[in-house]
Amino acid sequence: MFDPLYLLLVLLPGLIISGAASWLVKSTFRKYSSVGSRNGYTGAQAAQKLLDRAGITDVQIVRSRGFLSDHYNPGSKQLALSEPVYDSTSIAAVGVATHEAGHAIQHATSYGPLAWRSAIVPLAHYGSSLGYYTMFGGLLLMFASPLLGKWVVGLGAVMFAAMLVFQLVTLPVEFNASARAKALVVEAGIVSPDERKGIDKVLGAAALTYVAAAITTALTLVYFLMRAGFLGGDD
Ligand SMILES: [Zn+2]
Repeated sequence: MFDPLYLLLVLLPGLIISGAASWLVKSTFRKYSSVGSRNGYTGAQAAQKLLDRAGITDVQIVRSRGFLSDHYNPGSKQLALSEPVYDSTSIAAVGVATHEAGHAIQHATSYGPLAWRSAIVPLAHYGSSLGYYTMFGGLLLMFASPLLGKWVVGLGAVMFAAMLVFQLVTLPVEFNASARAKALVVEAGIVSPDERKGIDKVLGAAALTYVAAAITTALTLVYFLMRAGFLGGDD
């Protein structure tokens, strides 16, 4: 039933991909956290300059606690920057801060996928845990009743798929926020063109973690569907 080969073939690649992505993010951030930008804008100042450039006057930049807790909250129109990003003039800090400003610009320009993502959040939140346990329970139930168990796995998979949809919608939102930041950082006089290469690397590595998360979720779903006999025939 819990064939180790399936675990190896389906779940191990997910672990390797997310592990590699998180290693790349950490090492890229570490590298560019020690490279100061020449114009000397802090993360908070860089984000403010980008908002000014886009003509946004109603977004407040605030400090938030916690490592990598940087985010933009469309509800409160607050752009939260973690302390190291808020005060640092490093290329990494400027990259993260202007990426978050990119989300604020998305919101101000009614960028569709941002609204879709916000709408899916609650569904994805409950679907991911409830769906996972339902799929797991279904596999166990298959020992007693193969057909009933199989359909319980199917039900759980539908719930769990909400998480995958959320992660897939997150991809254009994240790539687009970075694209907006990259298009404006030089133009707004925050960094020079050669410094922008560092920002590209920081934001590229960060984007990879979202790709890895979606792949891992998809593989998990495939694993359960295969075990229940929905995919790959029966053995
Ligand atoms: Zn983002």
